[in-house]
Amino acid sequence: MATTFLFHDVIFGPVKSRRLGISLGINLSPTHTKWCNYNCLYCECGWNPVAGSKPVLPSKEEVIQKLQETLVLMQEKGEKPDVITFSGNGEPTMHPSFEWIVDEVINLRNSFCSGARIAVLSNASLLHKESVFRALQKVDDPILKLDSGGERMSRIINQPAYPFDLEKHLQEMEKFEGNFILQSIFLRGRYQEEIFDNTNEDELCRWMKHVKRLNPRKVMIYSLDRATPHPDLEKVSLEELERIAQKLRSEGFDVQVA
Ligand code: SF4
Repeated sequence: MATTFLFHDVIFGPVKSRRLGISLGINLSPTHTKWCNYNCLYCECGWNPVAGSKPVLPSKEEVIQKLQETLVLMQEKGEKPDVITFSGNGEPTMHPSFEWIVDEVINLRNSFCSGARIAVLSNASLLHKESVFRALQKVDDPILKLDSGGERMSRIINQPAYPFDLEKHLQEMEKFEGNFILQSIFLRGRYQEEIFDNTNEDELCRWMKHVKRLNPRKVMIYSLDRATPHPDLEKVSLEELERIAQKLRSEGFDVQVA
């Protein structure tokens, strides 16, 4: 397996993010393993641990205390983040105190760096939970994942740990009424002897239809950047990403290619 990448702290950075600027990261997942209800073939954090192992999550108090300590240190050095980003070793909305933590992070942001945005990178799988949906509406940039136009392709690429229903996924995202950022990765490869490619004409056509239906205020598209747990994946070139972006831009969408 290729060497993947884990965050070993609850608060990480500040780092220069290719998509977000100077970003201070919050990792609500365990610090030594990934924890997600997806198991994307391309996940930079590697595969999920074997079933049955119990995740050790940071407590909500620990998260806030460590964020405050980091913001104090940054303030002493005259630094400020452009964005405070929930990402890390898994799906942040799975943390049982996600909404409470979001509220407290907003308070800290307002005290230490009122100009910074708060972003959450989420696979959008838990939007049916009221507290998750509420919390994501409170942050500046909910960045929600839709990696494919088709259900079968989504299952291959994202490997959800539950019976994935694309229509339900789209319906939950529609509740944002366009006030969110859509993130989609493009890649191709081989999985269990099957060749897949989410840039093929059919997939792209379906994906574009979903984007128009969801009408996000921004779309971020990207391809592979770091090592992936699944070996047979191919990066999509910047030129191809630009061609996809151009199709959406011609429909009036704000598209960022990372
Ligand atoms: S949703 Fe994100 S954290 Fe979860 S498996 Fe996919 S890439 Fe990794």
